[in-house]
Amino acid sequence: MTIHATQAGAACGQGRLPAWRILILLFVGVGLTASPDFVSAQSVAKSKSKKSDAPQPAGPRDYSSANFLVHTDLPEAEANDLLKRLENMLALISKYWGRPNKQTIEMFVVRDLEVWPRNSLEPAGRESIEQNAGITITSGTVNRQTGKLLAAKSRVYAIADRGVPQHEAVHAYCHQMFGHAGPTWYAEGMAEMGHCWRDGESRVHCLPNVVKYLRGSEPKPLLAIVNSRDQTGDSWQNYTWRWALCHLLANNPNYYDRFRPLGLGILTDQPDATFERVYGSMSKEIAFEYLFFLQHFDLGYEVTLTAWDWKTKFRHAMPKAPIVCVIEANRGWQASRVIVRKGEEFEVTAEGSWTLSADGPELSPFGVELPNQKPAPEKSATVKKPATAKKNSKSETLEELPSIIRDDSLVKPGQLVGVLFNDYELSEPFEIPADGSFVAPGEGQLFLRCADAWNRLADNKGKVNLKFKLKSDN
Ligand SMILES: [Zn+2]
Repeated sequence: MTIHATQAGAACGQGRLPAWRILILLFVGVGLTASPDFVSAQSVAKSKSKKSDAPQPAGPRDYSSANFLVHTDLPEAEANDLLKRLENMLALISKYWGRPNKQTIEMFVVRDLEVWPRNSLEPAGRESIEQNAGITITSGTVNRQTGKLLAAKSRVYAIADRGVPQHEAVHAYCHQMFGHAGPTWYAEGMAEMGHCWRDGESRVHCLPNVVKYLRGSEPKPLLAIVNSRDQTGDSWQNYTWRWALCHLLANNPNYYDRFRPLGLGILTDQPDATFERVYGSMSKEIAFEYLFFLQHFDLGYEVTLTAWDWKTKFRHAMPKAPIVCVIEANRGWQASRVIVRKGEEFEVTAEGSWTLSADGPELSPFGVELPNQKPAPEKSATVKKPATAKKNSKSETLEELPSIIRDDSLVKPGQLVGVLFNDYELSEPFEIPADGSFVAPGEGQLFLRCADAWNRLADNKGKVNLKFKLKSDN
């Protein structure tokens, strides 16, 4: 949602900063209205203001908190609420980057441009607001030797909607703290994360239209995002790819250890801080998990619960020495430790049980309700209610999304399912039969899980102990 631009046509962001005395960096947020799927910000803003019973303020007023000075025409309660959300977000991002904010972030947040006096906004800011977008304008002194921007001061202009103020506030924090916000994929991915960030939580929170777009699109390859020379402000669609990549790398336990130092290295101009150097040896794994994330992407999806197991060793089962594993109900695909060949037959024993919600019935490893249980709450056979029933957000609802066939949506919930991993590709999922006899449908490492919607794993409980023994007539 942004374009990098500089006054007098200088390149900025990824290139070396020219040694001018004053450099002006512009981060322009282009409206998500590029997509007809998005309600235009303006129409949201207007409909909100019509509905509001509170008398509208005659014009902008100033509100301040520990780190922000916000000029806005929002009613007082909403302005204070925005300040609170900005402070919360700033606390999270400054903790993440390990640099407490030192300088007030000045913001102009506009709901109704008509109530702002003609000269109250600088032209670039006004123009961005007119486009239902946001812009962060930063000025400072450039060090002639290092090319670094010193004593940067940012001013944010943003419409009062859709997380645009939070997005721009992340840019402003980075500019004032580090002199820049990094290459486009990082700057925009992290700024988009800004308004989705929740303390200690890796669940996906975003607009339903983003989910719809990501699930309905051909996935954009990882390196196309990272190596792209795309500029900020290109399109909201490109923002969603960058956001998804940053969300994955920041939250997936396979990658997050390297992601924060990479970001800090980028922001503090360390020459080794590039995606290739930091993640080059893992690029196949990241590309696999990124694709997987996009294919199963949903509100409430947690990359911490679905991180791929790259460490467990697999081996071929033998008739006499069974291979054992434990499969947890609240995780995605888990290593069985068995590597199979097409047509091999196994004896499988499965012991244990699991539940798919706090008050749900106890199920066998094959999805069968166990006897002597309290009656289960009413629910349909294969499709559960949206995750939003559990968690708060009003705007995040799956009901608006098209029904997309999930890879194991036809399997009954609680059924033990398998998939074969072979050369970074997955087979179609299949059921592990309850009769204790399993024939491998292909070749690869066998991964298993308890069938449940991908975005509703967190409340599952229980585990199943499994033994795989190759049938002796193989
Ligand atoms: Zn931006």
